[in-house]
Amino acid sequence: MDTDLRSNGIYEQTQTGLYMLRVKVPGGVLAAGQVRTLCAVADQLADGHLHLTTRMSVELHGLRRDRLEHAVGRLGPAGLTSRGACGGTVRGVAVSTPAGPGRAPAVALARCIHARCTGNPAFEGLPKKFKVGVDAGYDGARHLIQDVGLVYAGSVGGQARWDVWLAGGLGRAPAEGLPYASALPEERVLPVIGAVVRVYREHVPPGKRLKHLVASVGREAFFSLVDGELPAPEPRPRPAEAAGPRPAGDRTRPVVVRVFAGDLSASRFSRLARIAERRCAGQLTLLPSQDVALHPESPAGRPALERELDAAGWAGQHGDGTVAMQVCPGARTCPKALAPTREVAGRVLDSLGPRGRAFSWAVCGCPNSCAQPQVTDAGVLCSGLVRDATGDRTPRFDLLRRDGTGLGRAVVERASLDELLEVIAAWD
Ligand code: SF4
Repeated sequence: MDTDLRSNGIYEQTQTGLYMLRVKVPGGVLAAGQVRTLCAVADQLADGHLHLTTRMSVELHGLRRDRLEHAVGRLGPAGLTSRGACGGTVRGVAVSTPAGPGRAPAVALARCIHARCTGNPAFEGLPKKFKVGVDAGYDGARHLIQDVGLVYAGSVGGQARWDVWLAGGLGRAPAEGLPYASALPEERVLPVIGAVVRVYREHVPPGKRLKHLVASVGREAFFSLVDGELPAPEPRPRPAEAAGPRPAGDRTRPVVVRVFAGDLSASRFSRLARIAERRCAGQLTLLPSQDVALHPESPAGRPALERELDAAGWAGQHGDGTVAMQVCPGARTCPKALAPTREVAGRVLDSLGPRGRAFSWAVCGCPNSCAQPQVTDAGVLCSGLVRDATGDRTPRFDLLRRDGTGLGRAVVERASLDELLEVIAAWD
């Protein structure tokens, strides 16, 4: 392992001398054996817990420096890697669609991009993180928040086609991705990603995302730069007026197991892996909601899978009626946090009526938007602190709603938590 910790997926935690190791899971698909490896490393070398991220990576916390090399070395034999999971690299390639006809090609493409970029110097040493996401359809808005967002556009002659969106991102100044090409043949996807990465490296200062370049030179000049980097320039298929929604379908409905704030112990994750071995062909799928999806081998196997989950301690935490809630680490571990996100998320959950429970949610501890509240149905974001009558600084929150197109926008601004919960409760 080289000394560049971030390129190896490692950050120093706020607690001095302890480190976080982030493992990429391209497409979010894990084999049960890989889960066992992650749990063993968590138990033996970290703090015995795992954290599931909104980009479907898995984090281990509390590693001592002298254990990092051993921990990283345990990943390779299991077909896992932390390479490029932090720092200025192409990060883990996300697939946000848990089911449907475009899911298999989306996972296959995610794995292909991961294989090309991971550990490849052409995709490392970038100004900042570079995010690629692949979706099976236009059900959500996650293609709008990627540096390169790819959306399945069907297949022609056995070759998948992809709509390509560029230069999206969240953070303090969210920018929606721009439609760059429509129904691009899959063989041209990797050259486009390579071209965008070269433009990013060449034209963006350190510490800035790709959206910074679009803001400075404009959309057409940015697209021309990318076109100019393509190895064999060809007229690219231009997007239709609206590269519009395509049917997502849902033929293999998974059972979604809720993992509050993405945190679970190694023993609980191991139990899910054992169930997946018996009932789900040995596979688990990580979701952007920080939950785990288990696909029964056949629709007839669903009741038995649900009974096993109940017996294993997940009763009431899976399936219909449970709420998708993404939560950033907040004040627990993040030095930028202005609010304790788990507590806020718990109070939001307690205040939800039937309408609110049907939404997907996200809670962020500061305007950096790490839990992506702009792409869930509703979101809560701590927008700042104000001094109250006693002189204490208390958090203020924005409430975001997504109306089905584009990114979610604030419908309430700088409210106290109690004011916000009143609004949420009144939605029913
Ligand atoms: S949204 Fe803010 S508080 Fe939450 S993890 Fe990101 S930087 Fe930290």
